[in-house]
Amino acid sequence: MPDIRPTVGSGALVLNATYEPLCVVSVRRAAILVLSAKAVCVADGDGILHSARDALPVPSVVRLTRFVRVPYRTHVGLSRRAIFARDGWRCAYCRGPAETIDHVFPRSRGGRHAWENVVAACARCNHTKGDKTPAEMGWRLHALPAPPKGTAWRVLGHRAPDPRWADWLDLREPEVAA
Ligand SMILES: [Zn+2]
Repeated sequence: MPDIRPTVGSGALVLNATYEPLCVVSVRRAAILVLSAKAVCVADGDGILHSARDALPVPSVVRLTRFVRVPYRTHVGLSRRAIFARDGWRCAYCRGPAETIDHVFPRSRGGRHAWENVVAACARCNHTKGDKTPAEMGWRLHALPAPPKGTAWRVLGHRAPDPRWADWLDLREPEVAA
């Protein structure tokens, strides 16, 4: 199975002047913000960046020196990677490694392609379930599917977070419905 987790440590977390997490940018872009005094480095990553004149530690978290007002994206796009990330890369039925996307109420019977009706699933469960509903199979969903929410989602999307960002982002396990 291919490793679908994106590489950790390939970006830098940008905080607003108020320490509110804003977005993730490339390490290069974060370094430019620091070098141009638009941001200060709050947490270092691994290694040193060299420019013609300067050398600075690779930034892992930077904070903008001036407050910026940002319109928030409240809707998380429905993509395969985002669904895997929401469900923790595990099958909604057997909790094994997820490889496919399953429509809880089958599309062939009018099920919608929406956050509330899609779950990550292993190939075996998906194939076995076919065009039946979990109830018809006598299966239980591990969690009720819902659109992802929270700061971490807004900032990271489907990116795997760098553990060094934990102080600024709420990185707990995805919510599990009763
Ligand atoms: Zn499964």
